[in-house]
Amino acid sequence: MTMRIDSVDFFYLSMPTVTLEADGSQDALLVRVTADGHVGWGECEASPLASIAAFVAPRSHGACQPVSASVIGERLDSPDDILRIAALVQHNSMDLLQAAHTFSGIEIALWDLLGRVREEPVWRLLGYDRAHAKTPYASVLFGDTPQETLDKGREQVRRGFRGVKFGWGAFGAGSPADDADQLHAAREAVGEDGLLFVDAGQVWGSDTDAALARLASLEAVRATWIEEPFEASEYDAHARLAASARTVRVAGGEASHNEAMARNLVDYGKVGFLQIDTGRIGGIGPAHRAARYADAREVTFVNHTFTSHLALSASLQPYAGLEHHAICEYPAEPKQLALDITTHHLALDESGTVTAPERPGLGVDVDADALMQYERVIDIVVDGRSVFDSPRIGAIASAERRIAS
Ligand SMILES: [Mg+2]
Repeated sequence: MTMRIDSVDFFYLSMPTVTLEADGSQDALLVRVTADGHVGWGECEASPLASIAAFVAPRSHGACQPVSASVIGERLDSPDDILRIAALVQHNSMDLLQAAHTFSGIEIALWDLLGRVREEPVWRLLGYDRAHAKTPYASVLFGDTPQETLDKGREQVRRGFRGVKFGWGAFGAGSPADDADQLHAAREAVGEDGLLFVDAGQVWGSDTDAALARLASLEAVRATWIEEPFEASEYDAHARLAASARTVRVAGGEASHNEAMARNLVDYGKVGFLQIDTGRIGGIGPAHRAARYADAREVTFVNHTFTSHLALSASLQPYAGLEHHAICEYPAEPKQLALDITTHHLALDESGTVTAPERPGLGVDVDADALMQYERVIDIVVDGRSVFDSPRIGAIASAERRIAS
């Protein structure tokens, strides 16, 4: 039997107020794909409106077509079809920079749909025979003061996390002495035996000296990694920092919006940890290949995710079966919107670990009812004709109730 992709719907959701904090869970772009009556869900980690526009924009020329041109009506019978559609998008939208972000959510939904049809978890479709438990670290933003950082870290340790990552905020922008105070507070919070990770959020641009000025304090507090010290493509800067470090490793990769960027960080940036967001790199397929690439070069693969448990499940699939890649980013203080996206959550088990679900597809269900309050209504009009008119999540909720009753 041949399935064809019938529809791709985007749902733009957001908190009532979106602030300037570096918290990507304040809004969301959910994607619902249907093929022959089957449904799959995905999520883009991207600007929702810009990503919707990349799906519906009028073509600019043959290599700058909207993403829809490569997706609607395509055959979907196997993982090979997902790969084929991804190649179409790459070729037909090569000059449309938002295309990778837009397609990421669609690609994830295609895997979810295929998994549901075959009654297999996505990780099994990727060729893994089991999903290994991962040790999650809580991902939080630095406090405004060392005391606030200490309090935030202690709260995550109380919740059962063995590792905590502190990031962004004022870190890196003030003096190295200020950062040392923050780092010592972070170590105190996680305790002697806790895992400590630090995320600089690209604060140093390409300034290797600024990063080197913090190296001694990062190593003094035994940080496992320093994440995104530089802009994503500043490979030389990454490599120079890595060459100067004795114990701390350089981490990065979340900004990769294609596989080559991920490989370059390994080959030229000399990262010790490769962190990939399936909602940005083009979906689960490219993240899976990046994971195998890292594995073959003794670089540790880690998921990147800061939003919902749909995104968390999607981010776990690419390396679910890689036993020795055992660290997992876990969104520890997401906005309520992110929690409301799914009907249940990937909770930590009694040993404090988390595992990709055994249920078909991504193993999570979207809670359409809970999401009505977050809807943003978008109408994109070109030459007086609507090219995008928001589908209503409430209509999905009532349709699913009809099916259930
Ligand atoms: Mg980060």
